[in-house]
Amino acid sequence: MQKTVDLHTHSYYSDGTFSPEGLVILAKQQGLSAIALTDHDTIDGLALFHEAGEKHGIETISGIEFAARYQGFHQPELHIVGLGFAYGHTALTECMAQIQKDRQERNIQMVHRLQGLGLPITFEEVQQCAGGEIITRTHFAAILLQKRLVRDRNEVFQRYLSPGCSGYVARKVLSPKDCIETIHKAGGIAILAHPTLYQLDADQLITVVQDLCGYGLDGIECYYATYTAAQQKQIQKIAHRFGLLPSGGSDFHGENKPHISLGTGTGNLAIAYEVWEALKTRCKKD
Ligand code: AMP
Ligand code: MN
Ligand code: MN
Ligand code: MN
Repeated sequence: MQKTVDLHTHSYYSDGTFSPEGLVILAKQQGLSAIALTDHDTIDGLALFHEAGEKHGIETISGIEFAARYQGFHQPELHIVGLGFAYGHTALTECMAQIQKDRQERNIQMVHRLQGLGLPITFEEVQQCAGGEIITRTHFAAILLQKRLVRDRNEVFQRYLSPGCSGYVARKVLSPKDCIETIHKAGGIAILAHPTLYQLDADQLITVVQDLCGYGLDGIECYYATYTAAQQKQIQKIAHRFGLLPSGGSDFHGENKPHISLGTGTGNLAIAYEVWEALKTRCKKD
């Protein structure tokens, strides 16, 4: 049987529902040979993830999915996956501290905005709701819902928490160049995640990829749960044109995206171990 991998997954350290060990156990059950944990803007789950990998006898790969603002076109938020870095490296830990500080400031500003709109919400409540996880707008939504200040999740986002609403404060995001450099400093490789999801037309996507290659982008997700056959072909062509290594994964989120399965995505995904082997030779860790 062919050895397969999943190089894009989330645990409850960001917006997935599985623990890092839960992911490892599931990966093992699914017969995967290696799995990367790529939580949004955090490496907090990686220590437990690697521990679980040792315990259950499966190759675990350090990962992260950075959000980065592209300065051009409609300024899309690009997702850049880092793989195979030394997760204790100061370049990364310093970057994580800065991201947390920016988020903290943003959360306080959002509480003030919502209070200004007459909504009874405190920072302590938000903190308590997150229970030690990274605070996101989901936690603000949960509190307003719990207090029955809105009818449902849709309403709370539409009225208060989406860009353009008076309760919303944009979060600071890194530049693509900063993300790629940070990943490289820590010995990892930088991958452009799911390029089909940025509302870029074919020519715009080429421009973006060209720019990122200028900062040292190593790879691009040629395999992804939601690609059509045509999209996969399009991205493979781009990879070939720019000398980018193929990567990919399911983008598993557990119950938060129940239609996506680990390893197989919506059913047909099967990423060969060789894909990871080729990427691994580029990592400078150890
Ligand atoms: P943040 O990173 O703090 O900006 O918040 C992002 C979180 O808010 C993610 O978990 C999203 O799934 C959630 N979110 C953003 N927009 C919506 C929406 N319109 N409806 C429901 N959840 C949303
Ligand atoms: Mn997510
Ligand atoms: Mn993403
Ligand atoms: Mn993801």
